[in-house]
Amino acid sequence: MELTDKLEILADAAKYDASCASSGAPKRDSIGKDGFGATSGMGICHSYTPDGRCVSLLKVLLTNYCLYDCQYCVNRRSSNVPRARFTVAEVVKLTSDFYLRNYSDGLFLSSGIIQSADYTMEQLVQVARELREVHQFRGYIHLKTIPDADPALIAQAGRYADRLSVNIELPTQDSVQKLAPEKSVHTIKLAMGAIRRKLDEKAEEPRSPRFAPAGQSTQMIVGADASDDQQILSTAETLYGSYKLKRVYYSAFSPIPDSPKSVPLAPPPMLREHRLYQADFLLRSYGFQASELLPATGGNLALDIDPKLAWALAHREHFPLDLNRAAQHMIARVPGIGLRNAQRIVDLRRLRQVRYADLSRLRCSMKKIAPFIITADYFPARDTTASEHLRRAMAEAPQQMNLWPELQVA
Ligand code: SF4
Repeated sequence: MELTDKLEILADAAKYDASCASSGAPKRDSIGKDGFGATSGMGICHSYTPDGRCVSLLKVLLTNYCLYDCQYCVNRRSSNVPRARFTVAEVVKLTSDFYLRNYSDGLFLSSGIIQSADYTMEQLVQVARELREVHQFRGYIHLKTIPDADPALIAQAGRYADRLSVNIELPTQDSVQKLAPEKSVHTIKLAMGAIRRKLDEKAEEPRSPRFAPAGQSTQMIVGADASDDQQILSTAETLYGSYKLKRVYYSAFSPIPDSPKSVPLAPPPMLREHRLYQADFLLRSYGFQASELLPATGGNLALDIDPKLAWALAHREHFPLDLNRAAQHMIARVPGIGLRNAQRIVDLRRLRQVRYADLSRLRCSMKKIAPFIITADYFPARDTTASEHLRRAMAEAPQQMNLWPELQVA
């Protein structure tokens, strides 16, 4: 098989993995049309480095053959997709060529499991080692880790890769047992624990060998099983706390050709994935806890309003908040005020009282914040403060429902 044919198959097979990509980027395709610049067919995706740079990565699988039969996965053993396998030398050559031609800044490499977890992991490590040691490649490398692989191999992977990821895929052991019976949440967590220990060792002893400076990440599939957003978010919260993950990525389940009956025929609403990313950001950066966003009894995030607004409407006892007196972390919880503006408001009030016009100058969303704040010259009118009224006024415009999801699947 020609290298370009393999690339087409193995780049397409990798597109379901969101754990390196910037979510929500529009799909662009210039094949057969005027225009240029569409690289998704050749496996280019975008990711962010720890210093915030957006980099283009060659995103491929080493192979889409797999011994496992995870029901939600297009590459599962029983799937009838065309199969291909790169050699280590081919991935090294593609990465170097793409880099030297300025097509990409690095590599995201994952793989189906062939022969054994150790064998597959050895192959992944060998690609990274050759790139670094033989070709002196200085670009970004993200390696997918095979959870059952020997921890020594995972340690080697961290020497060459910038980021490692172990996909947990589903939030509960029950779902993993049902849809990916050859996998185990316990083993996945052991692999995450091994990476965390190496990261901690490196942090304590800076002169110890390099280890995955961009940390570790994971992915959860949304909508392939019956898990609700509360289970997904509390699993994410536990993973952030226990394994110091840099990111949890959420990937809306995408029905695949000839799906087994155990997975849904239609994808979940894309907005559900978006709301989970918003809630995840509140956990990581605003100090929210999963239990504040969704009750322990379960449920999904609202689709018509964002999670911070939903929290504020459910906790009117904290509002209206006096911006001249409140703590900075509470100002950041006001819908329409972000972390940066919370800091600017606190800086400003060291000089003088914060006034309503100041918020407009800071480009806060005035419609959103008005019912929730008090300034030196402003107090919200009482008749706009009922939560149901605010929710109706602030809900995003409804969209036409998809009446025939099965047509989308075909
Ligand atoms: S192990 Fe990975 S590649 Fe193989 S079927 Fe499961 S999810 Fe797909």
